[in-house]
Amino acid sequence: MTQQPLLDFRSDTVTKPDEAMRAAMASAEVADDVLEHDPTMRALEERVAGLLNTEAALWVPSGSMGNLIALFLHLRRGDRFLAAHSSHVLDNELGTAAWIAGGMPYPMDWDAGPGRMSAAAIHDIAGSEPSYHGLNTTLLSLENTHNAAGGTVMPLEAHMQLVAAARECRLRVHLDGARLWNASVALGVAPAELTVGVDTVQVCLSKGLGAPVGSIVAGTEEFVVEARRVRKMLGGGVRQGGILAAAGLVALDRVDDLADDHANAKLLAEGLTELGWSVRTPETNIVLAAVPDLRNAIKMLGRLGIQTGPMSGQVRFVTHRDLSTADVKDALHRIGSAS
Ligand SMILES: *Cc1c(COP(=O)(O)O)cnc(C)c1O
Repeated sequence: MTQQPLLDFRSDTVTKPDEAMRAAMASAEVADDVLEHDPTMRALEERVAGLLNTEAALWVPSGSMGNLIALFLHLRRGDRFLAAHSSHVLDNELGTAAWIAGGMPYPMDWDAGPGRMSAAAIHDIAGSEPSYHGLNTTLLSLENTHNAAGGTVMPLEAHMQLVAAARECRLRVHLDGARLWNASVALGVAPAELTVGVDTVQVCLSKGLGAPVGSIVAGTEEFVVEARRVRKMLGGGVRQGGILAAAGLVALDRVDDLADDHANAKLLAEGLTELGWSVRTPETNIVLAAVPDLRNAIKMLGRLGIQTGPMSGQVRFVTHRDLSTADVKDALHRIGSAS
């Protein structure tokens, strides 16, 4: 067998910074962001606060740290927080929501659609005062798009209903928007429309947008002052961070490109379906394929030079800016030829 190029569908985090991004990083204006505010960090934070319509925003090295800082500041020890089951804050952040933020997680059924709970379910759990031996439920954590559900988009109306239910139950709301940009592109609405009513939001620059590192956690001015302290406590205060922020600024120019990833995911899903695979139509850039034997399927794909990973008991393919339409067709061709 001739050596075929590897096609990496494992994640949209595998993208590498291109020449333009590296050039922006190399020429970034910088200062010590712990002693004073690095000017490029400031520019990035202000731009994202504008995009998300929050008072302020803070760069953090990872989405996990952004989520943790928000939960840490929202929760008191033993407070219960609600999140759709299989959410990233529940399953993919080493339990830090409990371990460090002190929260008692309550994973909720997807009773309103993939990756979403209903407003009624929020009322059921948090709608009445707990008895003295009950739990204080104080936070709803949303995820848009929902990774484990297959990059599913929270419709605007559902978002508004969940936020309203949270308010009625006196819950704060955090939004894990690691892929909020994808939701915004898929719905054709500005990102700020998807943050209406939330207290805090976390967005990633290092996934589909292609920055090598960086996320933003955003909220009120007061929240960001405290978030900066917690970031430092967690070891996330960086010095000449402008080098990294510059990559984030370039990344933000590329939000519209996500439409190509979504089109490629559709193409992949259609092709797999034609080949007899069991695939739901993707809403964004994640394709989940149900297979009889997960380990073997991933191994078989690996032998074809197609890298994927497991997610929710299925094979997860993620499209991204370093995979072209031709690469997707190539992958389909390899799978078709092998079966
Ligand atoms: C990737 C991701 C994060 C954060 O991940 P990091 O690797 O820590 O940057 C948070 N939430 C969701 C839904 C994600 O997919």
